Amino acid sequence: MTRRVYLDNNATTPVLPEVLEAMRPYFGERFGNASSIHHHGQETRAAVERARESVAGLLGCRASEIVFTGGGTEADNLAIFGIAHVGDHVISSTIEHHAVLNACKHLAANGFEVTYVPVDGRGRVDPADVKRALRPNTKLITIMLANNETGVVQPVAEIGKIAADADVYFHTDAVQAAGKIAIDVNKIGCDLLTVSGHKFHGPQGVGALYVRKGTRLEPMLYGGSHERSRRAGTENVPGIVGLGKAAELALAGFERGDDIKMAAARDHFERELLGIEATGLNGAGLNGERAPRVPNTTNIYFDGIEGEALVIALDLKGLAVSTGAACSSGAIEPSHVLTAMGLRPDRAKASIRFSLGKQNTREDVDFALGLIPETVARLRELSPVWTKSAVST
Ligand SMILES: *Cc1c(COP(=O)(O)O)cnc(C)c1O
Repeated sequence: MTRRVYLDNNATTPVLPEVLEAMRPYFGERFGNASSIHHHGQETRAAVERARESVAGLLGCRASEIVFTGGGTEADNLAIFGIAHVGDHVISSTIEHHAVLNACKHLAANGFEVTYVPVDGRGRVDPADVKRALRPNTKLITIMLANNETGVVQPVAEIGKIAADADVYFHTDAVQAAGKIAIDVNKIGCDLLTVSGHKFHGPQGVGALYVRKGTRLEPMLYGGSHERSRRAGTENVPGIVGLGKAAELALAGFERGDDIKMAAARDHFERELLGIEATGLNGAGLNGERAPRVPNTTNIYFDGIEGEALVIALDLKGLAVSTGAACSSGAIEPSHVLTAMGLRPDRAKASIRFSLGKQNTREDVDFALGLIPETVARLRELSPVWTKSAVST
């Protein structure tokens, strides 16, 4: 049997056993509608409210400021469409997840003005660019906390200060930060913040939006008065319970130093892979080097190869990784994040994202280290591009 190692935890993470255990009763005997006033409803209502406390605990806010949604994408959309009105100006960045980028694109096509601030070669937004982009009709700044492809952490507290000074709402997509680095909405100074269950060992299809008290948010869905009329629809109780449990476990993990352990494993991986003495692997390097990053993510270019080909070749040997960029419409476009950082398109296409999760061990990392150099070398042997780029660089 092929050994399988999963290093694509920025795409999704396995649900932790404790999370599954916490959810299980809500698929069975605890089936009530949380809006019902009888015993069954009260039981699930209590579970939803406990989960709300847990998510609030992870983010440093009040439970009443948490709105449960059907995932990170929905929370991002709710933040953007719930705040911006026709004629408003919105500031975002060139490296956002498509859940934000395409929501902004939709705004731009419908009578809104959108400015996308650039990033530097390390993948960081300059807060001064955000400040310069402000206009009298700016309503919202939406800039992510940690990037899903590179793991690079943005200067959100500085952006939060700029937003507060200008009296502009600030939303941050923290989907890739939750459970990996400590989050405190008051330190960030944001008005809205997105998390998604399945990116930190909770279930898929459930997320949450933090909405600062006093923020006027228009709902996207119209129906019942669930979630204080900010998100109509019967609650996904098992999912919400799982998200709450994942939040509790993430918080406990910080106390145990899980994040420090993960950073050590990731640094070991980078050192071993990119140390030429160790692997003989030249023409490879880190994307987002020397920028602050979440502890689990590494994005590396391997000149002379096609990222997709390397993903497939590694998968055949039991290692699951990703190019980071979503493949839309069949054609493989270079990553918008890496090209925004100034990478040449061929180097962006030659880049791979490795992302660790809590289930990964040092043996998993060593398994990957054992496979990658030989696989890259074999693909380069087949590549006429490699000889060319090897000569030209
Ligand atoms: C995965 C992801 C999302 C989307 O979350 P879903 O729950 O999958 O809809 C949004 N933003 C970032 C940064 C992500 O990584």
